Amino acid sequence: MKRRSIKRLPKAHLHLHLEGSTRPSTIREFAELEGMDVGDGNFTNLPEFMVVYSKSAQTIRRPENLKRVCRELVEDEAEQGVWWSEPMGVPQYYWERLKLPVDEVYAIMKEGFDEGTRATGTEVGMMAGINRNFGVDGLFGVSTVQTAEFAVRQKGNGVVSFGIAGDERIPPDPFGPACDIAHEGGLLLVPHAGETMGPESVWSAIKTARPHRLAHGVRSIEDPDLLKYLRDNQIVCDVAPTSNLLLGVAQDIELHQLPKLIDAGVPVTINTDDQTFFGAMLCDEYRLVRDTFGLSDYELAGMARVSALASGAPEATKQRILKGIDAWLESDPDEDAQQ
Ligand SMILES: [Zn+2]
Repeated sequence: MKRRSIKRLPKAHLHLHLEGSTRPSTIREFAELEGMDVGDGNFTNLPEFMVVYSKSAQTIRRPENLKRVCRELVEDEAEQGVWWSEPMGVPQYYWERLKLPVDEVYAIMKEGFDEGTRATGTEVGMMAGINRNFGVDGLFGVSTVQTAEFAVRQKGNGVVSFGIAGDERIPPDPFGPACDIAHEGGLLLVPHAGETMGPESVWSAIKTARPHRLAHGVRSIEDPDLLKYLRDNQIVCDVAPTSNLLLGVAQDIELHQLPKLIDAGVPVTINTDDQTFFGAMLCDEYRLVRDTFGLSDYELAGMARVSALASGAPEATKQRILKGIDAWLESDPDEDAQQ
């Protein structure tokens, strides 16, 4: 039996972290250059993972290397049939390493993204992020409010959304003022929630951030009222299946929360979160859910449509992706089912 190639399906990729999407070979090269030890890379849960992530991210310490990371990310996205990529970057990190103001850090990132776009045609909108672990005042002299102000300043210059990452056990409430600034500035709000913590955490993220999308959101299935709220308000869950498996959010792929979200009418997208560390690229994630849950090409196209519509992409880009998805569905199946 033949089916359509996932790589050919036009997709928007909405939940990925910049440093977590860096090529492993590039990280190794940087580590050698800086004389740094990034450790064995092993982790079994989110707190351990954050230490591994931070060690790798610390190797990006030069403007030219940050730019290279951004360019390579776009090249890798294009390889996966991604037409719009929305990586989360935390410019605060680079204040410490590059000693540059956030707008200058972003200018370097944007140069890299633009180079990648010119080479591949894959477009990028950055999600400017804050990290709960750094606290409201931030670690490196850039507060969360200042980050939100930066994000709004760069709206129209490639920043499209505002994300909150970090340890979900830290309540989001104190980050409300930053979220309000991002909201009023017209950015899409995308907090991480419903990953390691349950429905209470999602409800408080909803109250604080008034999100357009949730990074993860999978544990919302534990509360029928919450599922109804997400469906009624069409709040999208940017699901990352392999991440959930490797960090223990789902015990087994057959037990993953995705089908319950779909059955409840919650809009979902498929994502990698941190492809470098989890070893699964975006096409792998689509294949995983297709093979596990027997999703048809129409259902996969439906999730790709949600990814375009819920993204921060310009309207013309969204329409181009939607047309590409229609063309994909009209095309002949070209791939063996075993692949
Ligand atoms: Zn994430």
